Amino acid sequence: DFDTSAVRELDSAHFIHPFTDHAALAVKGARVMVRGEGIYLWDSDDNKILDGMSGLWCVNVGYGRTSISQAVYRQMETLPFYNSFFNTTNVPAVQLATLLASIAPPQFKHVFFTSSGSEANDTNVRMVRRYWDLMGYKDRHTIIGRYNGYHGSTVAGAALGGMAGMHAQGGMIPGVAHIGQPNYAESGRGMTEAEFGIVAAGWLEEKILDLGPEKVAAFIGEPVQGAGGVIIPPATYWPEIQRICDKYDILLIADEVITGFGRLGTMFGSELMQIKPDLITFAKGVTSGYVPLGGVLVGSRMASVLIEKGGDFNHGFTYSGHPVACAAALENLRIIQDEQLVTAVAVDTGPYLRQKFATLADHPLVSHPDACGFVAGLNLVRKKAEVVHDCEPFDSADGVGMICRGHMFSNGIIMRAVGDRMIIAPPLVMTQAQIDEMVGRIRDALDATLAD
Ligand code: PLP
Repeated sequence: DFDTSAVRELDSAHFIHPFTDHAALAVKGARVMVRGEGIYLWDSDDNKILDGMSGLWCVNVGYGRTSISQAVYRQMETLPFYNSFFNTTNVPAVQLATLLASIAPPQFKHVFFTSSGSEANDTNVRMVRRYWDLMGYKDRHTIIGRYNGYHGSTVAGAALGGMAGMHAQGGMIPGVAHIGQPNYAESGRGMTEAEFGIVAAGWLEEKILDLGPEKVAAFIGEPVQGAGGVIIPPATYWPEIQRICDKYDILLIADEVITGFGRLGTMFGSELMQIKPDLITFAKGVTSGYVPLGGVLVGSRMASVLIEKGGDFNHGFTYSGHPVACAAALENLRIIQDEQLVTAVAVDTGPYLRQKFATLADHPLVSHPDACGFVAGLNLVRKKAEVVHDCEPFDSADGVGMICRGHMFSNGIIMRAVGDRMIIAPPLVMTQAQIDEMVGRIRDALDATLAD
């Protein structure tokens, strides 16, 4: 038992939160989350809230899975920790590596474990540079990412990502470049989506030629950008990116921290986008967030060089292959497979979510709702128009997205605001009836925003 206002005071006195304006937080006080079950959360005021964001895009199997906590408990009782450095290993890590090799696209037979997506992307930077060094191309060190992409908060993660606010705060490192994002609403005026996909992928070729192909090591992108606002690329985009990477012999890194483990209705988003990456970054959904775990799936092209010719790779984390985290992942992935959650998102609840979410298009504030598997987004606009480019936006200073987010919470649903774009990424276990409930709550909150 605890006193909520005392927790808020202590929080304010001692806890530095990620991505938070602490002056504003001190005024409002933090929301204290206490419990979760299925797709719902409860806060310390006993509000029941439908979690439309799966925490931070991670609680794929929903809250309250006692079989995961039991697996964690059993592993803690047996071997709570041992490292995987210097020729040692542990059973859950080996089992998980084997399972990942069996569910990943066929070129992936090897995995490097980290504790987070950010560390995994840092690992990617070192791995691709090491690969090209071993291949005898010591100048091939530049990695190209995208503006408004998100690849984490470590120094390399923040640099690979394209968030201006992060670059401005000590985020940039040498050897990283960026191209524009495939955001049709932002940049596709006068083109069909299919045409725009080719144009946006062409920015990669321009950048490669600009930098000199002999300098470029890899391209990194999220199959669907998450933190940037659920930017669903045109179907033509990724195959063209693949073609360009192949043409210039550039490694392709798919950051699947959000899209891995079923979120788009395929086990990995690369499958849906029809690309064949050399590296896949994963985290979040691998344990449904119950315990921190991330990693990099290493494709055969790189594995054969790094492992067979590489000697020592001077890289690793204390918690690489942490037995408890791996035990949680094994049970989580068993649930995803046994409950056929990926198939559900592909053929049942995913299409249903898309159809229901689309019905919000008739709301006076809403322009162009779209969804891909279990991620979806809509734009809040001052004036609607048939063509997305003709909609009139609100002034960003009005903070309409944040106002709407407040109304969402008051209506018992967590939806995230990225500017005036409202996004969701619900747990993969959500049923059709719960989708109806969610979309109903979203509509009520939109009405309240309109009335404001
Ligand atoms: N990559 C993507 C695509 C992400 O969405 C995130 C987190 O949101 C990360 C990397 C960073 O992962 P982590 O927060 O586990 O370091």
